[in-house]
Amino acid sequence: MRRVRPGDRSWPKAADWAALRERVDGNLIAPHPLFTACELTPTGAECRDVMNNLHNPFYIGDQPAGTEVSGWFEAWSPAASAYAVKARTAAHVAAAVDFARAHRLRLVVKGGGHSYQGTSSAPDSLLIWSRAMNRIVLHEAFTPQGGPGHLTAVPAVTAEAGAMWIDLYHAVTTEAGRFVQGGGCTSVGCAGLVWSYLPSSYG
Ligand SMILES: Cc1cc2nc3c(=O)[nH]c(=O)nc-3n(C[C@H](O)[C@H](O)[C@H](O)COP(=O)(O)OP(=O)(O)OC[C@H]3O[C@@H](n4cnc5c(N)ncnc54)[C@H](O)[C@@H]3O)c2cc1C
Repeated sequence: MRRVRPGDRSWPKAADWAALRERVDGNLIAPHPLFTACELTPTGAECRDVMNNLHNPFYIGDQPAGTEVSGWFEAWSPAASAYAVKARTAAHVAAAVDFARAHRLRLVVKGGGHSYQGTSSAPDSLLIWSRAMNRIVLHEAFTPQGGPGHLTAVPAVTAEAGAMWIDLYHAVTTEAGRFVQGGGCTSVGCAGLVWSYLPSSYG
């Protein structure tokens, strides 16, 4: 199925976007590509700010159009979505999914933005950006909801979809003195699909 793109007649009207913005409590943004400021004014302060911060993965992760990989030769290049829902609640996520379904839009999800395959970056799409959903809760005695009754309760941690591994290491290890297994790169998102290519190269 061909998804509706900007410029198509059935692309949502301004009033449709306004209705979505209301449903997501104002958290609808139009992301600019990371280097827009440099294209417009290469010697300007905004461009300098981007260039000075490019070495910082946490800065890149905080940009709605930021990707932690600069692309893959002859496969994909980073691209800003047409719009992004900076989701703060599950209701915001549901509203974005509903909107994309109703208008037949490309829908893309981004957490930490580390996808090597570029699967969290899609031109002309509506992005669900989970970075702001990073709440972490530690449990003394956890059993999965609906799990079999014989399971013994264990200490556990639950994290919202936008949490990075550094958030979990801090909450679980530094603050609670316990252990949690994650990746070596601390700005990787904990919810992103597990990357399976050459996993042995990671700690
Ligand atoms: C520089 C770098 C260092 C890395 N280091 C490590 C490492 O040390 N250890 C390791 O194990 N891996 C590492 N990886 C690989 C990394 O774990 C994977 O790329 C992982 O998929 C990244 O998740 P993310 O949330 O950061 O990425 P994203 O690009 O945000 O997401 C990856 C995929 O998951 C999907 N996704 C994200 N959130 C959700 C959600 N809530 N629901 C449904 N789908 C979702 C996205 O749409 C996308 O398809 C590294 C990658 C890079 C680029």
